[in-house]
Amino acid sequence: PGKDPAAGQAPIAAAAGMLDRALRRRLATDLRGAIGRGELTLHYQPRIRLADGSRRGAEALLRWHHPARGSVPPTAFIPVAEGSDLIVALGGWALRRAAADASRHPGLGQVSVNVSARQLAAGILPGQVELALAESGLAPERLELELTESLPLAEDAEVAAVLGALRGRGIGLALDDFGTGYASLAWLRRLPFSTLKLDRSLVAPLPGQPADLAILRAVRDIGRAMRLHLVAEGVETPEQRALLVGLGFEEAQGFLFGGPMPLEMLLAGGAVAPGTARPPAGMAAGRH
Ligand code: C2E
Ligand code: MG
Ligand code: MG
Ligand code: MG
Repeated sequence: PGKDPAAGQAPIAAAAGMLDRALRRRLATDLRGAIGRGELTLHYQPRIRLADGSRRGAEALLRWHHPARGSVPPTAFIPVAEGSDLIVALGGWALRRAAADASRHPGLGQVSVNVSARQLAAGILPGQVELALAESGLAPERLELELTESLPLAEDAEVAAVLGALRGRGIGLALDDFGTGYASLAWLRRLPFSTLKLDRSLVAPLPGQPADLAILRAVRDIGRAMRLHLVAEGVETPEQRALLVGLGFEEAQGFLFGGPMPLEMLLAGGAVAPGTARPPAGMAAGRH
């Protein structure tokens, strides 16, 4: 490993915030051609119903296999892409790929795709969504878009109208990483979300202190009052799962149930990511 990672072709493990400017520029250049060279893939992370461990759907997560650097984590290349319109092309590719996969495999359930605020700001999102649905023949109800509150979104009536139109089509709309970002309650009030995804930083402290549980109860109550699907992210231990069930949470994602994995693996029964535990045997078979 050289002193100047931009000069060599060193693997990248860090988040983009920790990369120097030369390396970020270099990654942006490489990323520009990555779609055409077939270096991008999607992995899918199961989204589980806590009541019985069954799979409600899956979240599509981009993976980039760089020919020289190996696999580059999305925490490195997504922020780089978000520095320009590159994220718009990447997001469009992910939508088409995910819709095609879901259409071909009904067993995938509802597929959730992450969307950048830039796709919205550029006014391009509705066209990208319609293209993905038309090409694949996927029913709009089987698509959900995840918007992260870690990006500032224009305080724009137009954005609310675009999102309202997508919801009107039957497409799901999730507020991602809830509890970390700029937007929080104001967004929730103003935009037509159907799902609230709690950031894993709210789940990680569990069992934690009374204050940690109080926050989760408050979020649960808001979600119920607004008739949102509530999804807890980053569930890693059976103890966390039990606490969430006790609090009345209905859906979850996390290494306990399975990390992001190739489509074939998910369809083959959702083999669990290396180093993680399976849900208890009784759960998966349970019925309500
Ligand atoms: P996200 O949308 O919040 O996705 C969840 C991230 O948490 C994923 O990281 C996933 O691997 C990780 N994760 C899931 N369960 C657990 C767990 O139990 N413990 C821990 N510690 N982590 C868990 P990943 O795949 O590295 O993606 C990072 C972020 O990159 C995503 O966060 C999302 O914001 C962004 N991203 C990924 N694909 C796309 C895309 O197609 N478009 C856009 N705009 N952003 C994307
Ligand atoms: Mg997400
Ligand atoms: Mg998330
Ligand atoms: Mg998150």
